[in-house]
Amino acid sequence: MIVDTHCHIYYDKYNKDINDVVNNAIDAGVKKIICVAVNLETAEKCFNLSQKFSSVYMTVGIHPSETGSTPNNYLKEIENFLDYKKTVGLGEIGLDYHYNFSNPKVQIKHYIEQLELAKAYQLPTVVHCRESENDIYDGIIKSKSNYGVIHCFTGNYDFAKKIIEIGYKISFTGLITFTGETYKDVIKKIDLSNIMVETDSPYLTPKPYRGKRNEPKNVRLVIEQISKWKKLPFDEIARKTTNNALNFFSKLND
Ligand SMILES: [Zn+2]
Repeated sequence: MIVDTHCHIYYDKYNKDINDVVNNAIDAGVKKIICVAVNLETAEKCFNLSQKFSSVYMTVGIHPSETGSTPNNYLKEIENFLDYKKTVGLGEIGLDYHYNFSNPKVQIKHYIEQLELAKAYQLPTVVHCRESENDIYDGIIKSKSNYGVIHCFTGNYDFAKKIIEIGYKISFTGLITFTGETYKDVIKKIDLSNIMVETDSPYLTPKPYRGKRNEPKNVRLVIEQISKWKKLPFDEIARKTTNNALNFFSKLND
């Protein structure tokens, strides 16, 4: 079994064939899919998908780019989803200094508040980190919330090492299939026990499907790339990254 630990299959581009998307994933061995919210509206969509498909789980949280348009009572709204048996984590939260769609100060406030909420509920966080490594790290230290994953890891080996030392995991997308050898070094050096895999569908479609909509079944191509660089069999990478996901998102086992 394989887990796609991060995707957004609630967007309109999946409306027509969502049944096929989920079934094709299952046929490809991707038997569990975590649908990640970026705001309260998409959390509702994740919830609906998780009700419809037994293989779909969810997270709830406010993405850094969405923090500018969040209601004052947003933490309470998030809490409404946290006890749900298929809510496996809090996210996606974080900081994005590449696009800066929201004021960095506002981003940091929401990031810390949500880290603290996740800690109170003993849920893992799913963290988006784009050109914001230092503040991401500082927020974790400040909130003492060290149960989380840096999703779509784009940092260097030093950041990976630093964040893993305080208890975090890192997760890779199809990005590693079309950026040459950028991530070869970090993947070779980081122990497999700290690595998870995801598609981030509909984004970051792996080679050779660049230009098409991404789907959870394509997480196999991320595993394939890791297998090449680690010089280990596909099945071993699949088995170990799946175990990591099941241990990390413990509510996937309920
Ligand atoms: Zn995402």
